[in-house]
Amino acid sequence: MIGKPDGSEPIVERHLPTVTGVTTIQSPDGVERFRVTVDWPIIPSWDLQIRPPRITLTLPDVEWNLKETQLPMAGEFVERVEAQRDDASLGTTLTLLLNELIRFDVERLDDGGVEVVFKRGKLREQKIVLDPGHGGRDNGASGEVLREKDVNLDVAKRAAQLLRAYGADARMTRAEDRYVGLFRRAELANRAGADMFVSVHCNAMPRRNQGFGTETFYYSPPSKCLGYIMQNCLVRALRRADRGLKRARFVVIRETRMPSVLVELAFLNHDEEEALLQQDRTRQQAAAAITEGLRQFVEGTGSQAPGVERGAGLTRMAPAAETP
Ligand SMILES: [Zn+2]
Repeated sequence: MIGKPDGSEPIVERHLPTVTGVTTIQSPDGVERFRVTVDWPIIPSWDLQIRPPRITLTLPDVEWNLKETQLPMAGEFVERVEAQRDDASLGTTLTLLLNELIRFDVERLDDGGVEVVFKRGKLREQKIVLDPGHGGRDNGASGEVLREKDVNLDVAKRAAQLLRAYGADARMTRAEDRYVGLFRRAELANRAGADMFVSVHCNAMPRRNQGFGTETFYYSPPSKCLGYIMQNCLVRALRRADRGLKRARFVVIRETRMPSVLVELAFLNHDEEEALLQQDRTRQQAAAAITEGLRQFVEGTGSQAPGVERGAGLTRMAPAAETP
Protein backbone atom coordinates (compact mmCIF):
# COMPACT_ATOMS: atom_id res chain seq x y z
CA MET A 1 0.00 0.00 0.00
CA ILE A 2 1.39 3.33 -1.01
CA GLY A 3 0.38 6.16 1.33
CA LYS A 4 1.43 8.41 4.12
CA PRO A 5 2.44 6.71 7.38
CA ASP A 6 -0.51 8.32 9.13
CA GLY A 7 -2.87 6.41 6.84
CA SER A 8 -4.19 9.40 4.94
CA GLU A 9 -4.77 9.38 1.17
CA PRO A 10 -2.08 7.88 -1.02
CA ILE A 11 0.31 10.49 -2.35
CA VAL A 12 1.37 8.46 -5.37
CA GLU A 13 -1.11 8.03 -8.19
CA ARG A 14 -1.83 4.52 -9.27
CA HIS A 15 0.40 3.57 -12.16
CA LEU A 16 -1.31 1.73 -15.00
CA PRO A 17 0.82 -0.63 -17.08
CA THR A 18 1.74 1.08 -20.33
CA VAL A 19 1.93 -0.64 -23.69
CA THR A 20 5.39 0.01 -25.05
CA GLY A 21 5.18 -1.78 -28.37
CA VAL A 22 3.24 -4.06 -30.69
CA THR A 23 5.31 -6.04 -33.16
CA THR A 24 5.25 -9.08 -35.41
CA ILE A 25 8.50 -10.99 -35.34
CA GLN A 26 9.33 -13.56 -38.00
CA SER A 27 12.17 -15.93 -37.32
CA PRO A 28 14.04 -18.05 -39.86
CA ASP A 29 12.63 -21.28 -38.37
CA GLY A 30 9.14 -20.26 -39.54
CA VAL A 31 7.89 -19.06 -36.16
CA GLU A 32 5.77 -15.91 -36.17
CA ARG A 33 5.37 -14.05 -32.90
CA PHE A 34 2.81 -11.34 -32.40
CA ARG A 35 4.20 -9.54 -29.37
CA VAL A 36 2.72 -6.88 -27.12
CA THR A 37 5.25 -5.45 -24.68
CA VAL A 38 4.16 -3.71 -21.50
CA ASP A 39 6.24 -2.03 -18.78
CA TRP A 40 4.44 -3.91 -16.02
CA PRO A 41 3.07 -7.48 -15.98
CA ILE A 42 -0.52 -7.80 -17.14
CA ILE A 43 -2.91 -10.72 -17.23
CA PRO A 44 -4.48 -10.71 -20.67
CA SER A 45 -7.44 -12.82 -21.73
CA TRP A 46 -8.02 -14.16 -25.19
CA ASP A 47 -10.49 -16.02 -27.35
CA LEU A 48 -10.67 -17.51 -30.83
CA GLN A 49 -13.62 -16.98 -33.13
CA ILE A 50 -14.44 -17.76 -36.72
CA ARG A 51 -16.25 -15.99 -39.56
CA PRO A 52 -13.76 -14.46 -40.03
CA PRO A 53 -11.06 -16.43 -38.16
CA ARG A 54 -9.69 -14.12 -35.48
CA ILE A 55 -8.05 -14.02 -32.08
CA THR A 56 -9.18 -11.34 -29.65
CA LEU A 57 -6.60 -10.40 -27.07
CA THR A 58 -7.89 -8.27 -24.23
CA LEU A 59 -5.38 -6.28 -22.20
CA PRO A 60 -7.04 -5.08 -19.01
CA ASP A 61 -6.16 -1.76 -17.37
CA VAL A 62 -3.48 -0.57 -19.70
CA GLU A 63 -2.30 2.88 -20.58
CA TRP A 64 -1.97 3.11 -24.31
CA ASN A 65 -1.78 5.95 -26.73
CA LEU A 66 -3.11 4.13 -29.75
CA LYS A 67 -2.33 7.00 -32.09
CA GLU A 68 1.33 6.82 -31.24
CA THR A 69 1.57 3.06 -31.47
CA GLN A 70 2.18 1.64 -34.91
CA LEU A 71 0.21 -1.57 -35.44
CA PRO A 72 2.39 -4.15 -37.15
CA MET A 73 2.26 -5.01 -40.82
CA ALA A 74 0.72 -8.28 -41.94
CA GLY A 75 2.59 -11.51 -41.35
CA GLU A 76 2.18 -15.01 -42.67
CA PHE A 77 -0.55 -15.94 -40.21
CA VAL A 78 -1.91 -12.58 -39.07
CA GLU A 79 -3.56 -10.74 -41.91
CA ARG A 80 -4.44 -7.54 -40.06
CA VAL A 81 -4.58 -6.16 -36.53
CA GLU A 82 -7.30 -3.91 -35.18
CA ALA A 83 -7.27 -2.19 -31.81
CA GLN A 84 -10.26 -1.05 -29.85
CA ARG A 85 -10.12 0.80 -26.59
CA ASP A 86 -12.85 0.53 -24.01
CA ASP A 87 -12.72 3.70 -21.95
CA ALA A 88 -15.05 2.38 -19.28
CA SER A 89 -12.85 -0.60 -18.35
CA LEU A 90 -9.59 1.04 -19.47
CA GLY A 91 -8.99 -2.18 -21.39
CA THR A 92 -7.83 -2.53 -24.95
CA THR A 93 -8.87 -5.33 -27.27
CA LEU A 94 -6.60 -6.30 -30.11
CA THR A 95 -8.21 -8.30 -32.88
CA LEU A 96 -5.82 -10.42 -34.91
CA LEU A 97 -7.49 -11.32 -38.19
CA LEU A 98 -6.01 -14.61 -39.36
CA ASN A 99 -5.22 -15.79 -42.86
CA GLU A 100 -6.09 -19.33 -41.83
CA LEU A 101 -6.67 -21.42 -38.73
CA ILE A 102 -3.62 -23.16 -37.32
CA ARG A 103 -2.40 -24.18 -33.91
CA PHE A 104 -1.07 -21.27 -31.85
CA ASP A 105 0.03 -20.63 -28.29
CA VAL A 106 -0.56 -17.56 -26.14
CA GLU A 107 2.35 -16.97 -23.77
CA ARG A 108 2.90 -14.38 -21.11
CA LEU A 109 6.32 -12.75 -21.19
CA ASP A 110 8.53 -12.59 -18.09
CA ASP A 111 8.86 -8.83 -18.19
CA GLY A 112 5.16 -8.18 -18.76
CA GLY A 113 3.31 -8.39 -22.02
CA VAL A 114 2.08 -11.27 -24.08
CA GLU A 115 2.91 -13.17 -27.24
CA VAL A 116 0.78 -15.12 -29.69
CA VAL A 117 3.07 -17.69 -31.28
CA PHE A 118 2.31 -19.37 -34.60
CA LYS A 119 4.32 -22.14 -36.16
CA ARG A 120 3.49 -24.39 -39.06
CA GLY A 121 4.32 -27.96 -38.08
CA LYS A 122 4.19 -31.37 -39.73
CA LEU A 123 1.63 -34.05 -38.94
CA ARG A 124 4.27 -36.76 -39.28
CA GLU A 125 6.16 -35.28 -36.34
CA GLN A 126 3.17 -35.41 -33.98
CA LYS A 127 2.25 -37.82 -31.24
CA ILE A 128 -1.50 -38.37 -31.23
CA VAL A 129 -3.63 -40.28 -28.74
CA LEU A 130 -6.94 -41.58 -30.07
CA ASP A 131 -9.53 -42.51 -27.49
CA PRO A 132 -12.34 -44.86 -28.58
CA GLY A 133 -15.11 -44.03 -26.13
CA HIS A 134 -16.55 -46.70 -23.77
CA GLY A 135 -15.55 -50.41 -24.01
CA GLY A 136 -15.86 -53.65 -22.08
CA ARG A 137 -18.79 -53.55 -19.64
CA ASP A 138 -19.60 -50.02 -20.85
CA ASN A 139 -21.37 -50.31 -24.20
CA GLY A 140 -22.06 -46.59 -24.54
CA ALA A 141 -25.12 -45.76 -26.58
CA SER A 142 -27.02 -48.39 -28.50
CA GLY A 143 -28.83 -48.44 -31.79
CA GLU A 144 -31.04 -51.24 -33.06
CA VAL A 145 -28.00 -53.09 -34.37
CA LEU A 146 -24.90 -51.19 -33.32
CA ARG A 147 -23.22 -50.69 -29.98
CA GLU A 148 -21.35 -47.43 -29.63
CA LYS A 149 -18.18 -48.95 -28.16
CA ASP A 150 -17.68 -51.09 -31.31
CA VAL A 151 -18.15 -48.22 -33.77
CA ASN A 152 -15.85 -45.94 -31.76
CA LEU A 153 -13.11 -48.58 -31.69
CA ASP A 154 -13.36 -49.34 -35.40
CA VAL A 155 -13.23 -45.66 -36.43
CA ALA A 156 -10.34 -44.93 -34.05
CA LYS A 157 -8.39 -47.92 -35.38
CA ARG A 158 -8.90 -46.71 -38.93
CA ALA A 159 -7.78 -43.20 -37.97
CA ALA A 160 -4.68 -44.60 -36.23
CA GLN A 161 -3.82 -46.50 -39.39
CA LEU A 162 -4.18 -43.39 -41.55
CA LEU A 163 -2.09 -41.32 -39.14
CA ARG A 164 0.65 -43.95 -39.12
CA ALA A 165 0.62 -43.92 -42.92
CA TYR A 166 1.45 -40.21 -42.61
CA GLY A 167 4.35 -41.15 -40.36
CA ALA A 168 2.72 -39.81 -37.19
CA ASP A 169 2.98 -41.57 -33.84
CA ALA A 170 -0.62 -42.68 -33.23
CA ARG A 171 -1.56 -44.40 -29.99
CA MET A 172 -4.85 -45.61 -28.58
CA THR A 173 -6.26 -45.61 -25.06
CA ARG A 174 -7.72 -49.03 -25.86
CA ALA A 175 -7.16 -51.24 -28.87
CA GLU A 176 -9.70 -53.89 -27.98
CA ASP A 177 -13.11 -54.23 -26.33
CA ARG A 178 -11.94 -53.39 -22.82
CA TYR A 179 -13.08 -51.06 -20.07
CA VAL A 180 -10.75 -48.13 -19.35
CA GLY A 181 -11.65 -45.43 -16.79
CA LEU A 182 -11.99 -41.84 -17.96
CA PHE A 183 -9.19 -40.45 -15.78
CA ARG A 184 -6.96 -43.31 -16.87
CA ARG A 185 -7.51 -42.33 -20.50
CA ALA A 186 -6.47 -38.74 -19.87
CA GLU A 187 -3.48 -39.90 -17.83
CA LEU A 188 -2.34 -42.17 -20.67
CA ALA A 189 -2.27 -39.17 -23.02
CA ASN A 190 -0.54 -36.91 -20.47
CA ARG A 191 2.11 -39.52 -19.65
CA ALA A 192 2.75 -40.15 -23.33
CA GLY A 193 3.34 -36.43 -23.80
CA ALA A 194 0.85 -36.42 -26.65
CA ASP A 195 0.57 -33.35 -28.88
CA MET A 196 -3.13 -33.90 -29.57
CA PHE A 197 -5.97 -36.05 -28.25
CA VAL A 198 -9.21 -37.10 -29.94
CA SER A 199 -11.97 -38.98 -28.16
CA VAL A 200 -14.26 -40.77 -30.63
CA HIS A 201 -17.94 -41.21 -29.80
CA CYS A 202 -21.37 -41.67 -31.36
CA ASN A 203 -24.43 -39.90 -30.07
CA ALA A 204 -27.89 -40.92 -28.92
CA MET A 205 -31.06 -39.23 -27.76
CA PRO A 206 -33.51 -40.63 -25.21
CA ARG A 207 -35.93 -41.46 -28.02
CA ARG A 208 -35.09 -42.92 -31.42
CA ASN A 209 -34.98 -40.44 -34.33
CA GLN A 210 -35.08 -37.53 -31.93
CA GLY A 211 -31.60 -36.22 -32.78
CA PHE A 212 -29.22 -36.31 -35.75
CA GLY A 213 -26.00 -34.74 -36.92
CA THR A 214 -22.38 -34.24 -35.94
CA GLU A 215 -20.96 -32.26 -33.03
CA THR A 216 -17.57 -31.62 -31.45
CA PHE A 217 -16.70 -30.67 -27.87
CA TYR A 218 -13.67 -28.90 -26.43
CA TYR A 219 -12.83 -27.65 -22.96
CA SER A 220 -9.61 -25.62 -22.78
CA PRO A 221 -9.01 -22.49 -24.85
CA PRO A 222 -6.09 -24.02 -26.80
CA SER A 223 -8.42 -26.84 -27.86
CA LYS A 224 -10.99 -24.52 -29.40
CA CYS A 225 -8.98 -24.11 -32.61
CA LEU A 226 -8.71 -27.89 -33.01
CA GLY A 227 -12.45 -28.11 -32.32
CA TYR A 228 -13.41 -25.67 -35.07
CA ILE A 229 -11.20 -27.44 -37.57
CA MET A 230 -12.31 -30.94 -36.56
CA GLN A 231 -16.01 -30.12 -36.71
CA ASN A 232 -15.55 -28.53 -40.12
CA CYS A 233 -13.73 -31.61 -41.48
CA LEU A 234 -16.29 -34.05 -40.05
CA VAL A 235 -19.29 -32.14 -41.39
CA ARG A 236 -17.73 -31.88 -44.83
CA ALA A 237 -16.91 -35.59 -44.90
CA LEU A 238 -20.04 -37.09 -43.32
CA ARG A 239 -22.49 -34.54 -44.70
CA ARG A 240 -24.75 -34.79 -41.68
CA ALA A 241 -26.36 -31.82 -39.93
CA ASP A 242 -23.87 -29.46 -38.30
CA ARG A 243 -24.64 -29.32 -34.57
CA GLY A 244 -21.63 -27.11 -34.02
CA LEU A 245 -18.68 -26.84 -31.70
CA LYS A 246 -19.58 -26.77 -28.01
CA ARG A 247 -17.74 -26.41 -24.75
CA ALA A 248 -18.16 -29.13 -22.11
CA ARG A 249 -16.37 -30.41 -19.03
CA PHE A 250 -16.07 -34.07 -20.06
CA VAL A 251 -13.25 -35.71 -18.09
CA VAL A 252 -11.18 -36.85 -21.07
CA ILE A 253 -11.00 -33.37 -22.60
CA ARG A 254 -10.76 -31.54 -19.26
CA GLU A 255 -7.95 -33.60 -17.74
CA THR A 256 -5.75 -33.84 -20.83
CA ARG A 257 -3.01 -31.23 -20.99
CA MET A 258 -2.75 -30.98 -24.77
CA PRO A 259 -5.26 -29.71 -27.35
CA SER A 260 -8.05 -32.24 -27.13
CA VAL A 261 -11.52 -32.71 -28.56
CA LEU A 262 -14.38 -35.16 -28.24
CA VAL A 263 -16.25 -35.89 -31.45
CA GLU A 264 -19.79 -37.24 -31.74
CA LEU A 265 -19.84 -38.57 -35.29
CA ALA A 266 -23.58 -39.16 -35.69
CA PHE A 267 -26.58 -40.61 -33.85
CA LEU A 268 -26.79 -44.34 -33.31
CA ASN A 269 -30.50 -44.24 -32.56
CA HIS A 270 -31.43 -42.40 -35.73
CA ASP A 271 -32.55 -44.65 -38.63
CA GLU A 272 -30.57 -42.98 -41.38
CA GLU A 273 -27.45 -42.37 -39.33
CA GLU A 274 -27.32 -45.86 -37.83
CA ALA A 275 -27.58 -47.29 -41.33
CA LEU A 276 -24.66 -45.07 -42.40
CA LEU A 277 -22.57 -45.99 -39.37
CA GLN A 278 -22.90 -49.65 -40.31
CA GLN A 279 -21.06 -49.01 -43.55
CA ASP A 280 -17.30 -49.37 -43.89
CA ARG A 281 -17.35 -46.37 -46.19
CA THR A 282 -18.83 -44.04 -43.57
CA ARG A 283 -16.41 -45.24 -40.91
CA GLN A 284 -13.48 -44.73 -43.24
CA GLN A 285 -14.75 -41.23 -44.09
CA ALA A 286 -14.95 -40.41 -40.39
CA ALA A 287 -11.43 -41.70 -39.81
CA ALA A 288 -10.12 -39.70 -42.77
CA ALA A 289 -11.88 -36.56 -41.50
CA ILE A 290 -10.31 -36.96 -38.05
CA THR A 291 -6.89 -37.39 -39.66
CA GLU A 292 -7.42 -34.37 -41.90
CA GLY A 293 -8.58 -32.28 -38.93
CA LEU A 294 -5.40 -33.10 -37.05
CA ARG A 295 -3.31 -32.38 -40.14
CA GLN A 296 -4.91 -28.97 -40.69
CA PHE A 297 -4.49 -28.03 -37.04
CA VAL A 298 -0.74 -28.64 -37.29
CA GLU A 299 -0.06 -27.68 -40.90
CA GLY A 300 -2.71 -24.99 -41.34
CA THR A 301 -6.14 -24.91 -42.95
CA GLY A 302 -5.10 -22.72 -45.87
CA SER A 303 -8.18 -21.86 -47.89
CA GLN A 304 -10.08 -24.62 -46.06
CA ALA A 305 -10.38 -22.40 -43.00
CA PRO A 306 -13.82 -22.75 -41.47
CA GLY A 307 -15.68 -19.49 -41.73
CA VAL A 308 -13.69 -18.20 -44.70
CA GLU A 309 -15.83 -19.73 -47.39
CA ARG A 310 -19.39 -18.58 -47.15
CA GLY A 311 -21.98 -21.25 -46.53
CA ALA A 312 -19.39 -23.97 -46.06
CA GLY A 313 -18.93 -26.04 -42.97
CA LEU A 314 -19.99 -24.46 -39.74
CA THR A 315 -23.22 -22.91 -40.88
CA ARG A 316 -25.05 -23.55 -37.64
CA MET A 317 -22.20 -22.87 -35.25
CA ALA A 318 -23.22 -22.26 -31.67
CA PRO A 319 -22.47 -18.67 -30.63
CA ALA A 320 -18.89 -18.40 -29.41
CA ALA A 321 -19.69 -15.84 -26.76
CA GLU A 322 -18.23 -17.76 -23.86
CA THR A 323 -14.63 -17.05 -22.98
CA PRO A 324 -13.22 -20.31 -21.67
ZN1 LIG B 1 -20.08 -42.03 -26.00
